[in-house]
Amino acid sequence: MGAITGYEFIDRIDQLDTDIWLDGQQVKGPISQHTAFKGLLKTKEALYDWQMLPSNKSIMTYDSPTSKELVGLSYLQPKTKEDLRKRRKMMEQWARLTCGLLGRSPDYLNTVIMSFASSSSHLIGKENCFPEHIQALYERAREHDLSFTHTFITPQVNRSQSYFETSEEPISAKIVGKTKEGLIIKGARLLATQGGLTDEVLVFSAPKFLGDPDEAFAFSIPSDTKGLRFLCRESFVGGESAFNYPLSSRFEEMDSIVVFDRVIVPWECVFFYHNVEVAEDFFAVSSFHPYAIHQVITRQIVKAEFMLSLAEELVQTINVGEYLHIQGKLSEIIVGLETMKALLDKSEHDAALDQWGYMRPSLAPLQVASTIFPTMYPRFSEIIQLIGASGMVALPTEKDFQSAIEPDLTRYLQGATKSAEDRVKIFRLAWDLTMSSFGTRQTQYERYFFGDPIRLASHLYKSYSKDGGKDMLNRLLGS
Ligand SMILES: Cc1cc2nc3c(=O)[nH]c(=O)nc-3n(C[C@H](O)[C@H](O)[C@H](O)COP(=O)(O)OP(=O)(O)OC[C@H]3O[C@@H](n4cnc5c(N)ncnc54)[C@H](O)[C@@H]3O)c2cc1C
Repeated sequence: MGAITGYEFIDRIDQLDTDIWLDGQQVKGPISQHTAFKGLLKTKEALYDWQMLPSNKSIMTYDSPTSKELVGLSYLQPKTKEDLRKRRKMMEQWARLTCGLLGRSPDYLNTVIMSFASSSSHLIGKENCFPEHIQALYERAREHDLSFTHTFITPQVNRSQSYFETSEEPISAKIVGKTKEGLIIKGARLLATQGGLTDEVLVFSAPKFLGDPDEAFAFSIPSDTKGLRFLCRESFVGGESAFNYPLSSRFEEMDSIVVFDRVIVPWECVFFYHNVEVAEDFFAVSSFHPYAIHQVITRQIVKAEFMLSLAEELVQTINVGEYLHIQGKLSEIIVGLETMKALLDKSEHDAALDQWGYMRPSLAPLQVASTIFPTMYPRFSEIIQLIGASGMVALPTEKDFQSAIEPDLTRYLQGATKSAEDRVKIFRLAWDLTMSSFGTRQTQYERYFFGDPIRLASHLYKSYSKDGGKDMLNRLLGS
């Protein structure tokens, strides 16, 4: 089969019988027709179509090493720096089609699965570990272009260091039994962006502090597995009009809580279970961080470029470019953007082969980028609000422009370089990016996209060598 078209993606998702709940109701009928999901699924349809355009095939796909079919390039296991650059170019293409706003474009989790497979040897010979199942999932995903959501964290009940869940019925998903078919999982996990809207859900659970083995497991199962339920938050699609809601009508991804109601996870889907050590060290030892953050930073750079152009468009529209503080604010975005680009380049430049023969981007520059973007992004968003001022609020709708008040709007809402309608379009875009429910979620998303930025900074501190100045220090201290 190999890489799929948009039609094949939608057809497959519509055929799943996934248990999704939204606003107190179970979602019925084809999900690609549902108001809350159709914008996102249309956008993803366009991504899959893009990879199959004859002119894009050499950028977006490569020959499968097993079937020789064309498969998605985000599955490529890089062996050279050139492979890494090819991967980045591919990821940039999809990010540009979505202005970097689709955090979980399919290449994100394809990359995660690729990284797991490239590191699966770490599990060889370890208790209750099945590296061959990771490899099989990788090959199945690559050959069928499967889409994934993922859930890596536990419900936010009590985050105290000393908290240990003691309830009889699990809150956080746990192994509650084993049969000859597989593991039995009960409880919940969060937060699955696009949960219920993909072929499969990838689950990775590491016990918190006291090492409960029942919380040590990882697997991937189809979204419509019996007993699996996706509880959606409220939809942030403002409406269908692309004039009124230029972003939420296209890119609202949805987030859901994933409930496992005694779900049987077939053995062939299990990567490991009841192995606390592996659950704790797999992320650190594997190439998950370097490859996943390489994808994340590639997308965030595209998003920063989009924000810079939008900010400049606002400046031109109301002609405020002569003010030094406006220039300073735009420069802040430029500094952030160029910093991110330099860090990404450095990660590729300093890439090295890992112990399994795969070319890993250097982790430190990527860690730095993923530590600074969560603080940079809210500032970019604020800058757009500060430039737009009241224009971010004086926002008539598409229908207003088709009504009797149109002459008033045309006269009073014109911009220095734009008609009223074009000016409102730009400001609505800025509002949807930074102030609508969709926009404020984007800010929260970029803050927590790759985990808690506080703990990311702590990992950076712990893993970064501080020996670069040691000689100088010793010289001065005379030791
Ligand atoms: C929009 C959005 C989409 C997401 N999508 C996904 C997804 O698709 N899949 C997925 O798996 N996850 C997803 N996440 C979850 C994301 O990974 C988490 O938000 C992130 O890991 C932080 O965990 P938490 O939200 O449970 O925060 P908590 O861990 O509950 O933290 C709450 C506060 O307490 C502090 N805190 C808690 N524990 C500690 C500690 N040990 N040390 C220091 N400070 C601490 C934190 O710094 C923070 O200020 C998403 C999150 C958001 C906001």
